Parts: sequence; structure tokens; C-alpha cells
Amino acid sequence: MKSSYEVVIIGAGPVGMAMAALLGRLGVDVLIVDRLAAIQMDPRAIALDNEALRILAMCGLALDDLDVVHIPAVNYFSPIYGRFARMNTTESVDTLPPLVTFFQPDLEAGLAASAHASGSVAVRRGVSAQVIENSASGVLLRLKEVDTGVEEDIKARFVVACDGAASSVRQSLGIDFSGISYSQDWLIVDALNVPEPVEEITFYCDPERPAPHMPAPGGRQRWEFMLHPGETQEEFMRDAKIKELLKPWTSFENITVERKAVYRFHARLADTFQVDSVFLAGDAAHVTPPFAGQGLVSGLRDVANLAWKLRAVLNSDLSASALSSYTQERKPHAKKMIRLAQFLGEMIMPANRLKATFVHGLAKFVGLLPVVHRVFTDMKVKPQNRYDDGLFLKARSKTEFVAGAHLPQWWLRSGQGDRQRSDVVFGDCLLCVGVDCDPNRLVDDELREQWQALGGSFFSLSTSEATRDLVGSWSVEGGNSPSSNQVLMLRPDRLILASCDAKSLRRLMPKVIQLFV
Ligand SMILES: Cc1cc2nc3c(=O)[nH]c(=O)nc-3n(C[C@H](O)[C@H](O)[C@H](O)COP(=O)(O)OP(=O)(O)OC[C@H]3O[C@@H](n4cnc5c(N)ncnc54)[C@H](O)[C@@H]3O)c2cc1C
Repeated sequence: MKSSYEVVIIGAGPVGMAMAALLGRLGVDVLIVDRLAAIQMDPRAIALDNEALRILAMCGLALDDLDVVHIPAVNYFSPIYGRFARMNTTESVDTLPPLVTFFQPDLEAGLAASAHASGSVAVRRGVSAQVIENSASGVLLRLKEVDTGVEEDIKARFVVACDGAASSVRQSLGIDFSGISYSQDWLIVDALNVPEPVEEITFYCDPERPAPHMPAPGGRQRWEFMLHPGETQEEFMRDAKIKELLKPWTSFENITVERKAVYRFHARLADTFQVDSVFLAGDAAHVTPPFAGQGLVSGLRDVANLAWKLRAVLNSDLSASALSSYTQERKPHAKKMIRLAQFLGEMIMPANRLKATFVHGLAKFVGLLPVVHRVFTDMKVKPQNRYDDGLFLKARSKTEFVAGAHLPQWWLRSGQGDRQRSDVVFGDCLLCVGVDCDPNRLVDDELREQWQALGGSFFSLSTSEATRDLVGSWSVEGGNSPSSNQVLMLRPDRLILASCDAKSLRRLMPKVIQLFV
């Protein structure tokens, strides 16, 4: 056991383990600790979107091997109007399915395996951690073995607190966690061997008893039931009650209840995600009701945003002051996701029959308007992963790529006929990509060396097999290729730092380099 690490992660839940896997792959010296002896088995996250899958691939998970169920649609039903809204989730986004369900313990085990495989992540379970001193130059932590009470102090250059919604690190730093806690409890039931298969997610928005229902890997199905005032957790955890609740769908005798739990949901956001050398990520930074399936996904966005920045500071490729961009970028976006979940919550659990009649009727009526129909059906209600302020060059660009947005992902084909996702081909580095041009030749030696000194490299992307013969690289497959003669500068988390036409690169690149110093 060493007494000093580059990064210590507190909390080995899915967000902490994703952070460990990302940092491990970047070669950072990491310790991750969790007070629990093993992965949590409670029924929690079940749905992930294309953005989460993209980040999981960055964490080293083989997407083709992930055990997921592709969800083709999400339905909203009312006892008065029948189906009043539907989201279509069949079309892939960024080469990935826009909505899948998964089994959280398996995902966490996959992330732990990836962190382990990196060779630079040490894991300690059954150990709780506390921040003792925190300054701009580093952190002193106290570790305590849960079983023996034995304590030891260690140092870290950075700490990432992924210690969940009740984060003791957040509290010890005095960070406000404002928002609301809902007054209703929800029972979650995961069952195996359900004889009646389902393919889609359906929210039964009955004010008498709202109930989301969905399929999951391994032949599982999940139901969630809202409790009313006066109904108790003890009563709802009993088999007799679960049998009664499941009656409209299946016979309790034919299924195996695998997991059950009662939760209360919250919508809260930390004031800041950073104090000196300590960062909050995942539920420690934001909690949301699960109606948009975005709690864990937001946490994954956090770690993708932060991991490469920490590595760059540790390598002296980025000034430590640039780390303030983490809160600047992630907080407003996490807030938008909480708002989306609250909006969907209004539809899913209207307070009474009168409100249900109004809200569902309005949704059905407004949904008949083609514009609204398209926005909802194509899932455009979900805020884009795009930032207004942060570590990128906020300049008007004549190209189709907006700085502060995430780069779309394409399927690429090499001259040898290999087919790969662009994220895999681009790798995890700072990258200057020329579309049908060679960006390496567009800059002089001095600029090239400055870019490379930051860990940057160059890449030529072709829009067709014909142009590939000219620039000798991978070509974009399919219909939505970017236009020729644009250059983009990309962060390792696929965010666009800046973009310009080929002839402006020499003028723009020094400004981008300036962002890092
Ligand atoms: C019913 C339900 C359904 C959900 N559905 C979805 C969904 O479909 N999609 C989605 O994206 N999200 C969903 N979520 C949210 C998702 O489950 C959470 O956002 C996610 O699990 C949070 O992960 P985390 O790693 O941030 O925190 P946690 O999983 O809570 O992990 C925190 C870890 O920190 C450890 N810890 C705490 N304090 C210390 C300490 N001092 N020292 C050492 N270790 C410590 C804990 O033991 C724990 O292992 C759902 C949540 C619920 C409850």
C-alpha cells in the first residue's frame, strides 16, 4: 500500500469505477476505495443512452459484448386517453442504439475489470475515506478499514468523490446540494422468468398508481410502483402486495422476484463540482428522479469530461486553472437533465385525476402538431450534450461543427476494408482532424511542435473512397459525411475545441493552444 497517489477516487459505484477505468487507460496512478466489500446488488439504474455507451467504450468496454436489450420505443399510457405519447428509439445515433436496458451489477463488474486491466489502478474495498486537508496543491485523506477500524493517512494530487447522493465529502467541503426531495416512495421490482415477453418501455401514467414497466437483459422485467401517503415500505415489500400489484401483467406464481427495494427520489444539484483539488462526480454532484433514465448517464458524462483534464494537468499539458471548466461545463448540463426528468415526472405521476386529465390531454393534443410530434417522437426533448461556456474556443465558425458540442460519431472504412467507429480510430488524444485535407501540412514546424507538445496529433479524414486515395486515410461510410476542407480540433472526450476552414488553421491553432497554458 503506497502513501501517495496521483488520483484517489472515493466510491467504487459505477461512476467511480468508470473514472478509474478512464484514468487507468490514460496511465494515471489511481487508488479507488469503497466502504462496501462488494458491488451493490440493489435494483437501481436500468436504462442507458447512446452517449453513455460511447463513454463506456472509452472506458475500455467492448460494446458488442455488452449484455443489453435494445429498446425500440417508449410509450406513455393514460387510463383516459390510452396511449398519449410515444418516443421512437429504433434509429441509431452516433452509430449506437439511443436506448438500451442493462443489468447494473454486470456493468460495474465490467468497469472494474477494465480498470484492473489497465495496470495502474489499485482497488481497496471495505475502506471508508475522508478528506482531511484540501488545497490547490493536493489532498490529505484518512482511510479507515470498516472491519478493524485501523486508520491510515495518504496523499493525493487530486481526489474525485464519487461517493453517492449522501456524499460525506460534499458535506465536509460545505457544498450546498439544493433542490427538492419528492414526497412519494416507489417500489422497484425486478423479476426473472416472466412468461409474457415485452420489448418496449411503457409508463402507465395512472394517477391511482403510476407504474413504469420495461424489459431488461437475462429475460428480466422491471416494474416500478408509486406508493401513496399512508402506504408503507413494509407492506409493499411483502410478496402478497407484489402479487396484487403485478396481477394486471403476470401471475406471481410463475415468476421469480430477483430484487426489490423502496426508494424516494430527489432532484438536487451541488453548487460547485470542485473545491481546490477535490472534485464531485455522479450522484455526489447531482441526483435526479429516474424518469428520464439519466442519473448514471450524467455521472458518466462527468467522468469523461474530467478524466482527460486531470491527466493533462498531471502531465503539465494543461494549467490547473483550466480545471474550473469542469463545473462550468457539467453543472448547467446536469441541471437540464434534472429538469427533463422533472418534466417527464409531471406526466408520469400527475398528482390527481383532474391534473392527469389536463396534462395527458394536453400532451396528446399538442403531440398532434407535426413539429411537437417530431420533437417528442425523435427524442429531441433530450438536451444536447453541448456547452455554452468552458474549455473551447467560443468563436463563430463557418463550418458545420460548433465548438462546445460533441463530435458526431461515424462508421469509417480503411483502404484495407476494415470498418471501425471513428472514436476507436481517433483514439484518446488531442486531435486535429482535416476533412479531405492533411492538417499536418497546413501548419508550420513551430506550430506543429507546440501542438504535439500538448500530446496533440493530426488525422486526415476522407468523405469518400475517392478522396481517401488523395489523403490516404479512412473514409466516412454512409450518408451524413462532413463537408470537405474543414478542420476540427478535438479534445480526448470528443468535444470540439474549435473548427475552421483549412486555410484558417494556421491562425486558429495558436488560439486553441493558448487555452491550455
Ligand atoms: C430506482 C432507480 C432507477 C434508476 N434508473 C436509472 C436509469 O435507468 N438510468 C440512469 O442513468 N440512472 C438511473 N438511476 C440512477 C443511478 O442508479 C445512479 O445515478 C448511479 O447508480 C449513481 O452512481 P454513483 O457511482 O454516482 O453512486 P453510487 O452508486 O451510490 O456509489 C457510491 C459509492 O460510494 C461508496 N461510498 C460512499 N461514501 C464513501 C466513503 N466515505 N468512503 C468510501 N466509499 C464510500 C458507497 O459505498 C457506494 O459504493 C436510477 C436510480 C434508482 C434508485
